[in-house]
Amino acid sequence: MIPFLDLKSINAQYRDELIAATTRVIDSGWYIQGQEVSNFEQEFADYCGAKHCIGVANGLDALTLTLRAWKELGKLKDGDEVIVPANTYIASILAITENRLKPVLVEPDERTFNLCPNIAAKAITPNTKAILAIHLYGQMAPMPEIMALAEEHDLLVLEDAAQAHGASINSRKSGSWGHAAGFSFYPGKNLGALGDAGAVTTNDEVLAHTIRALGNYGSHKKYENLYQGVNSRLDEIQAAMLRVKLKYLTEEIQHRRTVAKYYLKGITNPAIQLPYCTDDDYHVWHLFVVKTLHRESLQALLHESGIQTLVHYPIPPHKQQAYHYWVEQALPVTEGIHNQVLSLPIGPTIPKDDVSSIIEVCNSWTA
Ligand SMILES: *Cc1c(COP(=O)(O)O)cnc(C)c1O
Repeated sequence: MIPFLDLKSINAQYRDELIAATTRVIDSGWYIQGQEVSNFEQEFADYCGAKHCIGVANGLDALTLTLRAWKELGKLKDGDEVIVPANTYIASILAITENRLKPVLVEPDERTFNLCPNIAAKAITPNTKAILAIHLYGQMAPMPEIMALAEEHDLLVLEDAAQAHGASINSRKSGSWGHAAGFSFYPGKNLGALGDAGAVTTNDEVLAHTIRALGNYGSHKKYENLYQGVNSRLDEIQAAMLRVKLKYLTEEIQHRRTVAKYYLKGITNPAIQLPYCTDDDYHVWHLFVVKTLHRESLQALLHESGIQTLVHYPIPPHKQQAYHYWVEQALPVTEGIHNQVLSLPIGPTIPKDDVSSIIEVCNSWTA
């Protein structure tokens, strides 16, 4: 069986170092808001090229707390519109609605599945106050154009970088383009903890302080509460795991890029549409997503051949029960994507032979 993502083998590579880091935390007697977290925050901010990094409990909180902080700072208010591509993972949308802001779902670029600045421009109204740009599957949204559009209309830009640690455009990394960025370190992400974890990066010091306070009961100083905050902190033990894994991230991305290159060269079946990427982008291939009109048949053949595949994602947010009041909204491009995409195995440890077998099965398939 070729698993979709072999998390066990990924973490096994660093087993000794992870155990040493765990031991260090256990023996320190300090488990929340200590040296591991502050060191990781500094290291990850440096990695992204951002001034500040604030560790939080998960990626959803990173997005939710950033929008919440902008509300506390008077930059957003209830009902303000946030432009967001419709074909995202539900967390992006939840962060908006949790803050009583209004998601304005737009169709993505048909080639990259990312936010299209021209389509976004047409969705701007006097109530538009922010753009949530998602770097889907590891490829960055066109940030230079998005930032120019935002500047023109005085909009805030939040990057959802949960799938794109280390991705860049013109050597400038995700997490350093928008006014802030939310990262997830869910175990299956390109930089994964051994449990839930997340972070925000930003160059805005006031925003950084506000998010830090909001995630710590609204307190910036022990027993003094500025806001009605929540408890969303990065644990020392997860920060210690992430510090080990951050050291190998560049290497792991390199392996993903090599695998992607094999797929892009090797899969020649005309019934399978390969992912599109431009030369300016440093794509980190969180997912390798192909498109086909006959997904079930391709997935079935791969399954029979012992190859696990997944669909990211089968149901778009506007078709979810959670947002039943949007069900009338017609977003044909988004719906087409959700009906046709299939994610092939990719990861930092998948052997070349496995990739070759997957390519062979893909090329032998007739719809
Ligand atoms: C994983 C993910 C999130 C949420 O991260 P969690 O850590 O699971 O809360 C948000 N947005 C996108 C695009 C994701 O892939």
